[in-house]
Amino acid sequence: MTAEARLAIEVTGLHKRYGEVEAVTCVDLSVRTGEVVAFLGPNGAGKTTTVEILEGLRTRTSGDVHVLGVDPAEATADWRERIGVVLQGAKHEGDFTAAEIVTMWSAYYRSPRPTAEVLELVGLAEAAGTRTRRLSGGQQQRLAVALALVGDPELVFLDEPTTGFDPAARREAWQTIDGLRSLGVTVLLTTHYMDEADRLADRIAVISRGRIVADGTAPELAAQVAMPSHISWDAAELSTEALPHRLRDLLRSQDAWERPALVTRDVGGVVRELLATAEAVGTRLDSLAVQPPTLEDTYLALTGDTSSGDGS
Ligand code: ATP
Repeated sequence: MTAEARLAIEVTGLHKRYGEVEAVTCVDLSVRTGEVVAFLGPNGAGKTTTVEILEGLRTRTSGDVHVLGVDPAEATADWRERIGVVLQGAKHEGDFTAAEIVTMWSAYYRSPRPTAEVLELVGLAEAAGTRTRRLSGGQQQRLAVALALVGDPELVFLDEPTTGFDPAARREAWQTIDGLRSLGVTVLLTTHYMDEADRLADRIAVISRGRIVADGTAPELAAQVAMPSHISWDAAELSTEALPHRLRDLLRSQDAWERPALVTRDVGGVVRELLATAEAVGTRLDSLAVQPPTLEDTYLALTGDTSSGDGS
């Protein structure tokens, strides 16, 4: 297999303009066969535009795009059978059962996956005989994934698969996506949730204002922006007045429990200094806690919203 054949998606210098609006200015993105990649970005960043160009649903202004080795602008019916698309909030609310809908859908494909196998794959086997209008939100989403899998696609596009879900439905949807990974299906997942991206994806690509601003694992992204950690403790154990000047300068915020908190990237140095200060005033500082930057902090920093705080 050549290097090119191992790439399910290859995008270079993608640009899309709608009249005066530069929706996508420069997107470079590669997704290897079998990889699960999350595509994150704020509203209006250019996610839908990019993904719909990859799906062959929109035209591009310029740039090179290859999806499963084919330019989507010249997509054939054969190529369409090799990809599965799950649109956001797709719903089936009729009198047909889940199994009947999947079977009807399979008529569009030359070699469809058997209905029972598809329902099993997405965790809907027990709801096979349930009328679609009686399916819960989570089950509706699973049905949408089932329909995308009927044709046995090599590549699946999932658009915000868990938006509006309760925590239990979210976990179920995640299991379905894990199932796709174990089948070796390549997945490009659009989401607004950094934790979802971290849980499901091998790699995260972040788009902001029409260009890719980061591409890597969650720890790699965190390292790229080098966000500070929060070091907090109980004020009853050590008053902030007892802090040396260097530490007092780092006292920028309080944590969720209204405890004093220092914001810093020099965690080791500051903790050592804090413990030395505590020892000097005769306290053990057992309440000390270090909170590393959250995925959300990293994401907000990458997409240009730094209002979540900064430190030395
Ligand atoms: P969201 O998270 O809100 O879905 P997105 O990242 O998917 O956002 P896009 O829908 O790709 O972003 O939009 C990118 C930019 O292009 C936005 O400024 C949007 O208003 C604009 N845009 C999108 N579609 C069109 C269109 N058909 N005509 C004109 N402008 C458009």
